[in-house]
Amino acid sequence: MIEAGKPQANPLKMSSLSPKAIIHQKYGDKASYKVEEVQVTPENGCPGLVITQKAPPCLYRCILHLPETTVVSDTFKKKREAEQSAAEKAIEKLGLRQKEYNPTMQEAWDDLAGRVAFLFANEFLSFPNPLSNHFRAALRRDGHFNGFVPVSVIAVYDAKTTTSICKFINPAAEMNSLLVMSLVSRAAAKLSDLVIVSDDRLSVQRRNLYLPEIISSINHEASLSESIPLDVILIPVSCEKAVEPLKLNISATGYYLDVIAQALSLPGASDIIISRTIGKASSEMRIYSSTPKRLFENLSEPLTKQASHVEGSLNIRATYFAGQEIHGDAILASIGYAWKSTDLSHEAISLCSYYRNFVSKIPSGPYKVSRDAILAAQLPLAFTTKSNWRGSFPRDILCAFCRSHHLSEPVFSTQSSMLDSSVNLPGSRKNLKATELSKKEKSELGIAAAPTGAISCNIKIYSKNQELLLECSPQESYRKQTDAVQSVALKVLRWLDIFFEKPDLSAEELGLLAKKFDIQFTHNFVKGFSLCHSVHRSGTTITQVSNTTFNNLEGQNSGVTPANGCLACINYTVSLLGEGDSTKEYIESCEEFEFEVGNQAVLPHLDAAVEKMAVGQSAYFTVELPLSELILAASGDSAKTLSLLSPRSCKLEYCVTLLQVTEPLEDRMEQALFSPPLSKQRVEFAVCQIRQSSAVSLVDFGCGSGSLLDSLLSYPTSLEKIAGVDLSHRGLAKAAKLVHSKLNSLLDPNEPTSEMKSAALYYGNITEFDPQLHGFDIATCLEVIEHMEEEEACLFGNVVLSLFAPKILIVSTPNYEYNVILQGCTPHSQEDDPDEKNQAQACKFRNHDHKFEWTRAQFQHWASELAAKHNYSVEFSGVGGTADVEPGFASQIAIFRRGEESVSSMECGSEYVQIWKWSREDVAVNC
Ligand code: SAH
Ligand code: MG
Repeated sequence: MIEAGKPQANPLKMSSLSPKAIIHQKYGDKASYKVEEVQVTPENGCPGLVITQKAPPCLYRCILHLPETTVVSDTFKKKREAEQSAAEKAIEKLGLRQKEYNPTMQEAWDDLAGRVAFLFANEFLSFPNPLSNHFRAALRRDGHFNGFVPVSVIAVYDAKTTTSICKFINPAAEMNSLLVMSLVSRAAAKLSDLVIVSDDRLSVQRRNLYLPEIISSINHEASLSESIPLDVILIPVSCEKAVEPLKLNISATGYYLDVIAQALSLPGASDIIISRTIGKASSEMRIYSSTPKRLFENLSEPLTKQASHVEGSLNIRATYFAGQEIHGDAILASIGYAWKSTDLSHEAISLCSYYRNFVSKIPSGPYKVSRDAILAAQLPLAFTTKSNWRGSFPRDILCAFCRSHHLSEPVFSTQSSMLDSSVNLPGSRKNLKATELSKKEKSELGIAAAPTGAISCNIKIYSKNQELLLECSPQESYRKQTDAVQSVALKVLRWLDIFFEKPDLSAEELGLLAKKFDIQFTHNFVKGFSLCHSVHRSGTTITQVSNTTFNNLEGQNSGVTPANGCLACINYTVSLLGEGDSTKEYIESCEEFEFEVGNQAVLPHLDAAVEKMAVGQSAYFTVELPLSELILAASGDSAKTLSLLSPRSCKLEYCVTLLQVTEPLEDRMEQALFSPPLSKQRVEFAVCQIRQSSAVSLVDFGCGSGSLLDSLLSYPTSLEKIAGVDLSHRGLAKAAKLVHSKLNSLLDPNEPTSEMKSAALYYGNITEFDPQLHGFDIATCLEVIEHMEEEEACLFGNVVLSLFAPKILIVSTPNYEYNVILQGCTPHSQEDDPDEKNQAQACKFRNHDHKFEWTRAQFQHWASELAAKHNYSVEFSGVGGTADVEPGFASQIAIFRRGEESVSSMECGSEYVQIWKWSREDVAVNC
């Protein structure tokens, strides 16, 4: 008899039916749901408040009437939830909760037959669902097909119930609609007094005709609607033949599946197998192809065996697209019956949207599409900062990838390590990692100087059957969870991308590559994705980056060039050049496209071009053709592009202009690379000096927007008087706001946390002396001197020590030698022109406003000379990194201390303009 699967091995239960579905099974139309809006009065509403408040959220309650009882749901934000809640309450009240559905083989067969009988009952025709529309349309089919419902339609549109029963007969049914079809037609064959199964077993008809009035009303409703012209896509089985658009005319009175069948040269709707939906959840996009008949020919064939097809009949592109086996020529169409109406919903599918969908299945595809730059963007190397990321986030792309390949949602698990994030223990996670990557990779990833983070993340990807396919568990850890999650998702995507792009990698090479990405993959992964390789192999050649030719660089050199970590904004166009430049067809362009330089966020050619350019300059170059689907997805007129592509050897020409460069904020870099951020470390350094010296007064030279003054106030110190000087009105305005509110917040009269008596901000040039700021206990000048010319820095040094004469002066400035780590500019090794070589080696400054950045030797020379001249002592320190590990601190610091016998001459000087002032008394009086 029938060979059985192993239902007891299947953990899926019938009780996964929703409460509404259970009610429906029992009561059908006799259950009536009524949803009403519930008025909510805001709980904390202020009576008499004039300001209009946000409207309270609308809530719903559902009343469910059943023959035996009526129940009322709780209130919910969504109508659907209220309905389910009502159904759930009814189930509980009536004790309807099903025992676990775990039928015997016989029961499962009986249930399946029962379901078929239910579908062919009179009442079903009036149910407002897509399947009943198919049943009605079947009654309008021509000639001997009249009344025959394709089994495939039942398998697809009654999947929820039918498949869940079939699973108990054969677990493989879950993933195999052909199997479901064969089971359904067998179950139908047992109902010989009720239905007739066609000879080919592909369709089922009611034995007794429906009542004439039902038939006539069905014909009447059809005559009211108009016929539909439908744009669909033909995907020929032979990869030699191009995918092409097709126009179908869906007549209102016929059955649309018959029209699709005809276009595939098949006798009728029953010969079609319908794929699951493709793309978005709401989409009705499906692939239609011919049903392999052999499955139905031999009933004694074991069910677990899939239909064996004639060699070469597999439609690779369609199979890849649908994520299930498709044989023979196939049609991609978006059409289907709507719920609760007899309408056909439909959408035209253009060639372009076909290709865009195709590209979306490549791991990096959704990223390219989200950037609307299919021929320019590629998945960046690293997730540096959220603020520099453009386009969809890696995590979302990976989820979309899994969905589109019918895998389970990826499982992310994050762990926080117990390490104190500020301590860099030898042998910590980070150090382990560092030994695994080459120096170049480290600097590319920007992890050489990375702080010890605390959070790491790994990803597991499972098939729908919960078989593990792939696992990625990197060593790196991050300070923020999002960084950890996005980084590991990006890693998986980048590896998948290589896997897709390079079908010729040997198993060994693939394994090595996976190791580099901290990825382990299973046999099931290789099996599941083998098809992707065939698809990509079947496309045109995938080119490597090498043969780039820069034709020229146009425009004046403005001197503003992008460095790693900058955001470059470009304008580009990509055109298809015919042989000998005979034709030129625009394919893709963007007016303003922003990307992070040095992060491989664009095609390597483009990255290389932009690196050589200054703002305002343009370049153009040609590259070999990439995968043709990419070009066609980018092109607005795929048909025309296709015609240009097919016979000739074309090239892609890129024209690019560098519009703008946004330098990486020093802060941004410091935030990303140091923990705590360098700015915070500088404040802590200053606070430490203040404590040790019991300083009472402090002046911050070049205070900027007041970050030091503001942060200082968060620590308990002996300070009573603080002042800041700067030349930037904008900075000072910000500083005033920041410091003002901080000081006032500290002034809790019950709990005096601060000794602070007065604060002031001045507009002034710190190379000029103002007697008001003479003789302070401590003066700070953090990350300021490099913003002046070197002579001015020397002048400032002299003015401060001789005239302002603070007891202690703290000066910080970037250590130029540290930029190698920050910017990852590795010295070039090839024997180039020596001048060029030096240029390549030169690191850029950290900020475009810097006039110089000193090495440790330069800084120490400046400071030592200065100290000696003014009878100060000086010692050197720094923050970020350590003194005795090359290349020293990221920020170098000099601490000058006034000698006992030094006498400062109190010259008169220019008065700074006081732009803000605060004193404790004033505040006290005002209170
Ligand atoms: N010390 C701050 C700001 C550093 S940015 C911090 O650590 O965050 C450098 C600041 O120096 C800028 O705000 C700039 O306006 C200021 N500056 C540069 N030259 C100056 C000068 N000659 N006189 C006063 N301020 C100056
Ligand atoms: Mg600076």
